[in-house]
Amino acid sequence: MGKIRMLTDIVASQVAAGEVVERPASVVKELIENSIDAGARSITVEFSRGGTASMIISDDGSGMDREDALLCLERHATSKIRKSEDLLAISTMGFRGEALPSIASVSKFRLATCEPDATSGTEVNIQGGRVESVRDCGQAPGTRIEVRSLFFNIPARKKFLRAEATEAAHIVSQVQILALANPGIAFSCFRDEKQVFRVAATKDAAVRLRELFGAEFLGALMPFAPERNYGGITVSGFIAKPSGGRRDRSHQYTFLNGRPISSPAIQHGLRDAYPGAMEKGLNPPVVLYLQMDASFFDCNVHPAKKEVRFRNTSQVQEAIGQFAMDVLARQPDQKHITAIPSPRIAMSETGVAVEKTHAFEQRAKPLFSTEDISPEPVSKSTKQELPFTPLSLLGAQYLLLEKDGGLVIADLRAASERISYERILGQMQAHQPSSQKLLFPALVELQPKDYDWVHSKQDLLASAGILLESFGTGIFKVEGLPDFLSETEPREVIYAAIDAFRTAGSRAHGRSLEDALARSMSSLIRARFRRPAMEEAIDILHQLLACDLPYACPSGKPTLVEWSRAELDRKFGHES
Ligand code: ADP
Ligand code: MG
Repeated sequence: MGKIRMLTDIVASQVAAGEVVERPASVVKELIENSIDAGARSITVEFSRGGTASMIISDDGSGMDREDALLCLERHATSKIRKSEDLLAISTMGFRGEALPSIASVSKFRLATCEPDATSGTEVNIQGGRVESVRDCGQAPGTRIEVRSLFFNIPARKKFLRAEATEAAHIVSQVQILALANPGIAFSCFRDEKQVFRVAATKDAAVRLRELFGAEFLGALMPFAPERNYGGITVSGFIAKPSGGRRDRSHQYTFLNGRPISSPAIQHGLRDAYPGAMEKGLNPPVVLYLQMDASFFDCNVHPAKKEVRFRNTSQVQEAIGQFAMDVLARQPDQKHITAIPSPRIAMSETGVAVEKTHAFEQRAKPLFSTEDISPEPVSKSTKQELPFTPLSLLGAQYLLLEKDGGLVIADLRAASERISYERILGQMQAHQPSSQKLLFPALVELQPKDYDWVHSKQDLLASAGILLESFGTGIFKVEGLPDFLSETEPREVIYAAIDAFRTAGSRAHGRSLEDALARSMSSLIRARFRRPAMEEAIDILHQLLACDLPYACPSGKPTLVEWSRAELDRKFGHES
């Protein structure tokens, strides 16, 4: 007996649904893309209970006649490509002809559609892939698709769905992304019958960006218009000011011919454009609109069409990099990223610092081995009396020190990071934050997903000295900040905290979240470090040596390097 059987169409669609329909947001994505392809000028998304109860997408696009309304629910039925050559030059969002049958196979599905001059529309009802009814219906020109009880017939899939709030956040951010990609189309989005946002059609991407993400987000970006052409690739949009780096990439939106995409080539291009300007490990928020001939790339490499493969990767990378550099070059203050107001690491009064200077003069036992051949991170050792004589400051961040006739260099910037990291971690663990009330509490507007995160972590933030109060939908009032960050822009602190949570991952808790938060707060200090006065420098050194792990910054880079006297002698060719 043959073991191989043809899958029934329904089962095949359910299998395909596994790839296309990952979660409610993917349904919303596919349906909005269809509406865009149908030439809609206005698209409405309504969903309830995180999309699990219902998702309704309606548009005023071309609509379908009865024959197409039935045909579009067949597997591999698409109006968008006819022959295999068409695959080489796809200009529509969809082309696989898989979405509708896949979605209909795992839900209770209703399609109502009407062509502009037809006398009546067509309604098709499907349950778990079986057509239940087809009939005439009243329907405004365009298409309305209702997806209810997603995965009702596939309990295993249903179990994998996250909390309603999470799925809802994914849907909203999906609608936002597609709205950002298509400023010329009006969008409205309703969650559990409440309006989340409504944006009118506009020619100006900046208007769309501001309406979706707020004036603050827009303000942190530099627009580059008009679009520029780099060897057949045109680019327009917005890129971060050099000081606006984020730990993760959630604020990088790139669109290729209107399609949201991600590609390493774009990442690499951006990295080329921000060397040194962006602190290591930070990603610049960007909104990039790329246009290129469809023959330049292949978007048929991912079932949900999330990735594209460029025919000439380095050309794309160069175009992006060149482009961002051109824009950054116009920014007068880009080289002064580290000159933003000081972190005030050296907190003790000058008098104390001076006293400590005297302590430095009393030579202590050697702290380091003198056998090192090359400058190396100084190994961890038990805490001792300060064994250095400060010589002078070098550049903006180094302190030169003498120790037993040898040379030690302290990286004060890395030291500041270590000090604030241990300090904030200690305060969190002791539940004794040293918070400073802001004279002028600041309002910070967040995207819904970010807002939910921050809301759920408010206690943890408070333990770190970040005092927040909800202030209406999507907005927090920042009432206090950790004292050493009191001069930092409140919203930067909040963004860094969000990035920290996201980098730590949604399942992290307790120690690892504390650690991530402490790291991100201390990296703010690092980013804003500016050249200290000698006394402050000495105070930093003193605080560094009082740390549990003084010899490296939280990311593991050395804070102190040493050339022993013996080594210096050897280098100069003297017998030691
Ligand atoms: P694809 O988008 O890959 O072609 P889909 O399964 O998403 O496949 O859609 C199948 C077809 O149904 C589309 O090619 C299009 O002809 C038709 N269609 C789907 N949604 C709409 C809509 N909102 N308005 C008009 N036609 C639509
Ligand atoms: Mg489609």
